[in-house]
Amino acid sequence: MFRRVYLDNSATTPIDREVVDAMLPFLTEKFGNASSIHFFGQEARGAVDKARHQVAGIINSRPNEIVFTSGGTEANNLAIRGLVEANDKYGKHIITSAIEHSAVREVCQDLEKRGYDVTYLPVYEDGIVKIEDVEDAVREDTILISVMMANNEIGTIQPVAEIGKLIRKLREGGKKIWFHTDAVQAISKITVDVEEIGCDLLSVSAHKLYAPKGVGALYIRRGVRLHSQNIGGHQERERRGGTESVPHIVAFGKACELAKINLNVATEHLTNLRDKFENGVAETINDFEFNGNRENRLPHISNVSFRFIEGEGLLINLDLQGVAVSTGSACSSGSLEPSPVIRALGRNDELARGAIRFSFGKDNTEDEVEFVLKVLPKAIENLRRLSPIYLKQTV
Ligand SMILES: *Cc1c(COP(=O)(O)O)cnc(C)c1O
Repeated sequence: MFRRVYLDNSATTPIDREVVDAMLPFLTEKFGNASSIHFFGQEARGAVDKARHQVAGIINSRPNEIVFTSGGTEANNLAIRGLVEANDKYGKHIITSAIEHSAVREVCQDLEKRGYDVTYLPVYEDGIVKIEDVEDAVREDTILISVMMANNEIGTIQPVAEIGKLIRKLREGGKKIWFHTDAVQAISKITVDVEEIGCDLLSVSAHKLYAPKGVGALYIRRGVRLHSQNIGGHQERERRGGTESVPHIVAFGKACELAKINLNVATEHLTNLRDKFENGVAETINDFEFNGNRENRLPHISNVSFRFIEGEGLLINLDLQGVAVSTGSACSSGSLEPSPVIRALGRNDELARGAIRFSFGKDNTEDEVEFVLKVLPKAIENLRRLSPIYLKQTV
């Protein structure tokens, strides 16, 4: 039988069986609208409230600080747009990093067109923002800092608690400034605690932690003012209009509960798989670079640039052999744009184009890693044999 190995868990994860079981009744007999007053409505409302506790539990917030959204993208949009729209009288400057997910980066770019000024902090060779740079970037008119907790392409963990401390200090000096962090990749991989981080807004998505696509949440610290982006519904205490997707929210809650219980075991398992993979790569392949800091990072992502090949070509070659990975680049059909994240590390075009992300999940096994370590070196060798640059330098 043809074997398939899924190493693209940073793009999405399979839904956990227990999560499916938790949501099923809400797709069938428990179909009520959570805003209805009758029995069916109250049953749905109870389930949404329970999920709110479960999601709050994994980030150490109060349940009423959780607003359900359609996912990480919407949470990031609501956080940034909602915050600046409600507070633009205090200033129009935003600080973010050069390696944000497109749902932060492109929202910031859009705001630039609407009269906002945005500073994109460098991340240097190791893919980590420097706290001194954040401090230096703060101006009189800065109202928002949005720096992700951990990157989705290279896994590097950002100094969010230090940024939180800086924010607190600035506020004590009377400044109006808020801090948002995209924790979509970090959650269920490392401890995410809104009190430790000291953030005002934090984005989460369900489908990166074994729950369905199309649901997520934004943590909004009590007292933070935000303009709703969905007008015409009063759900989520006026922060996000629209009838709640009860089955998705229930699934998300269950997944958070499970992720919290399993955090340590999951981290150990993922670290073990990733290290086995990286050791294998180092033993069997030449001319490659690991991308990003290798200490301060999430346990489940390995990003490698292979010289003399196109990442896209390798991805397709691996897919034909049953191994699913990602280039991490936003490649619109036809154009092979190198990933902005890999470019931000100062990598040249060749290394940026040769970057591949291998991301592990709880269902991956050591046996699968061994299989990939057999397929990968051969795929690279075959592609390099077709590469004129490679042949020239080996002659
Ligand atoms: C996947 C991802 C998102 C987007 O979340 P969706 O639920 O797919 O919209 C945002 N930020 C990061 C870091 C991600 O990895």
